[in-house]
Amino acid sequence: MKRTRPGRAWIELDLDALADNVAVLRRQLPRGCRLMPALKANAYGHGALPVAKALNRMGVDAFCVATAEEGAQLRRGGVKGQLLVLGYTDPADFPLLRRYRLSQTVVDLPYGQLLARWGKPVSVHIKVDTGMHRLGLSPRDLGALLETMGQRSLRIDGLYTHLCADDSDSPAAQEMTQRQITLFQNVQAMLEIAGRPLPPVHILSSYGLFRHPWVGGDYARVGIALYGMLSRREDSRFLPEPLRPVLSLKARVASLRRLEPGDTAGYGPSFTAYRPTLAAALAIGYADGLDRRLSCGAGEVLIGGCRCPILGRVCMDQVLVDVTDAPVPTQGDEAVLIGRSGEEEITALDMAERCGTIANEILSRLGPRLERLIVPAAKGSRMYI
Ligand SMILES: *Cc1c(COP(=O)(O)O)cnc(C)c1O
Repeated sequence: MKRTRPGRAWIELDLDALADNVAVLRRQLPRGCRLMPALKANAYGHGALPVAKALNRMGVDAFCVATAEEGAQLRRGGVKGQLLVLGYTDPADFPLLRRYRLSQTVVDLPYGQLLARWGKPVSVHIKVDTGMHRLGLSPRDLGALLETMGQRSLRIDGLYTHLCADDSDSPAAQEMTQRQITLFQNVQAMLEIAGRPLPPVHILSSYGLFRHPWVGGDYARVGIALYGMLSRREDSRFLPEPLRPVLSLKARVASLRRLEPGDTAGYGPSFTAYRPTLAAALAIGYADGLDRRLSCGAGEVLIGGCRCPILGRVCMDQVLVDVTDAPVPTQGDEAVLIGRSGEEEITALDMAERCGTIANEILSRLGPRLERLIVPAAKGSRMYI
């Protein structure tokens, strides 16, 4: 049967907002630099396949993901262009790299040797550890790596590093960023001196692109900005133009009940009514990514354009909200957890602040159980994914 409306709890993707963000990011790109959007963690919770396909239609032809399986899923879904795996791939999964034409990051010298020993032609990007000390070759090991790979079939399609303090204005952070950039430039110079062809290079992610665009590069690995924000609200001062959130999170009102003063509700019970209260159970919970730190009034939702505080503890599959002061909803009505309702709006940044985290975490934990649908604002029609 064809669905006419989303069911229990769902994400709406505004592809017009995505296109606007792509335009903002492209205006910001240094000369000769192209977008390599980060689609890891299901495109920060948005849904990697619909986002990738929309980006393909906008002319984006390079992407990065965290894992080989994420890359394989995109390729199986028909995504075109380069797919770079940023993280470690276990040798047991090396066949995925070839089957799905993925590029693998060389995460350190032994790993490069391991890939080379596998003996099959694979595309790789060499990551250089310029100070984050997470993944990447020490600049000292680069010569040894090139020796190993020179004799083998690995194709070097990229050279990159990741800045770890590009989101901060502090003198220590600025110094760290400068040191990382200088180290990376030295590595490029070493390659040139050694007479090696320089592969495409990439350094900048969202913050770097807005704060240090002069660093340049052939690609910018943008994640959070593509989805319409930076990690923290105050960082929007780094944006030359506003970005638009791409995602809304909604759930249906599952049930309504009246509480008398003194009645309790939820696990614990952690809520006691001090007045006659109308409580609504919404069909979404922490298993969907609704953070438990929003419990007991820390978070709120929008129903009929009114803010309704979360009441008691967020459960695995449900959450109770206080709708006493809202226009009385009926079973099956929409509640907005992230997005707009009437004049009101709750953003992933609002939610992140209330949870003491960053928007990236709130978004990327939105779970697979949520339906995802595209809302082409222009037509007002809906398309299920
Ligand atoms: C996630 C990630 C990015 C994207 O970062 P944003 O801050 O979301 O733009 C870029 N590079 C690497 C290595 C990453 O892991």
